[in-house]
Amino acid sequence: MGIHERLGLTRVINARGTYTPLGVSRSSSAVVAAVAEALPEFVVVEELADRASDALADATGAQAGAVVHCTAAAITVAVAAAMAGTDAERIAALPDATGMRARVVVPEGHAVDYGQSNLQAIRLAGARVSVVRELESAFSESSEDVACVVLVSSRLAEPIDLGAAVRLAHDHAVPVIIDGAAQFPRVGELLATGAEAVLVSGQKYLASPTAGLVLGAREFVRAVRAQDGGIGRGMKPTKEAIAGVIAALGEWRGAAWVEREAEKVAAFVREAAKIPGIAAREWPDPAGLPVTRAVLTVEDADRLAAELAAGAPPIFVMKHGEELALELVTLNDNEVRAILDQLRAATGPMRC
Ligand SMILES: *Cc1c(COP(=O)(O)O)cnc(C)c1O
Repeated sequence: MGIHERLGLTRVINARGTYTPLGVSRSSSAVVAAVAEALPEFVVVEELADRASDALADATGAQAGAVVHCTAAAITVAVAAAMAGTDAERIAALPDATGMRARVVVPEGHAVDYGQSNLQAIRLAGARVSVVRELESAFSESSEDVACVVLVSSRLAEPIDLGAAVRLAHDHAVPVIIDGAAQFPRVGELLATGAEAVLVSGQKYLASPTAGLVLGAREFVRAVRAQDGGIGRGMKPTKEAIAGVIAALGEWRGAAWVEREAEKVAAFVREAAKIPGIAAREWPDPAGLPVTRAVLTVEDADRLAAELAAGAPPIFVMKHGEELALELVTLNDNEVRAILDQLRAATGPMRC
């Protein structure tokens, strides 16, 4: 008996990608084993965190890395690190930012809601947010600036030139924090911008247990870890999450993963395109993530999405304008077949 039967949970097919309300991702058996191995053991957590830093550096090319609870936590802790550094008094004082630089610059359009506003995640550290229209003039007038937080996401309407944004902030001695929560497959490219920290959700494409990965400059990562003695305490990772992250990093095969997922989408699009009433195409990620989705054009996308969600098992897809988008990452052959079967049934000749 599995978790669904035992706890009376709905078995779903998740075609929304790394979608948090549906459980985000599936871990491999090696990651599961690493978690199970860690749970009954005592460890010196600092040592485990050091090993994680080495593993993150090896896998991504970052100087160092830290694990916190999740990316929402990573945003708060990274901003706190920019404000307090490793100064014990400041760490203890936050979120009271008296006497500290506390203005965080966020470009317009980079204020988003992933279930929580990222601006709240910044303010939780005690910082003050300035959402600015032009980064070019954002830093000039104020010595209050403590960090610049930018986002990389497929949902971003107008992606900015990250390298230029980092150079601009650095010209004013302001550290840059990149929220790339769903960007693990291209994390090297984000680190190459020179940002002090790139934040990634381990539980998204890396498929580790829930974990926020802070990757970046050695000094900055040291300051992030120092927040464990302050507001980072409630945002700490579990020992089993750290062990799971190390295992997932050891298994990660970027190019092979990208190729396998692309083939899956291509095969799905070929089959879906044969279904009467459906036009199907591949949709490469607009932000540059090496993940392709399938887009379906149908007469009534809302109705089809509702029918799929009401099916047995329920299938959850994304709206993409007036079309439907499906992400097939980590879905198995049976699930992909079930989606095609439900599409055929929903659009078939039996319907009037
Ligand atoms: C998922 C996501 C987050 C939140 O990540 P968690 O690890 O669930 O806290 C933050 N920012 C972006 C852009 C995301 O996609």
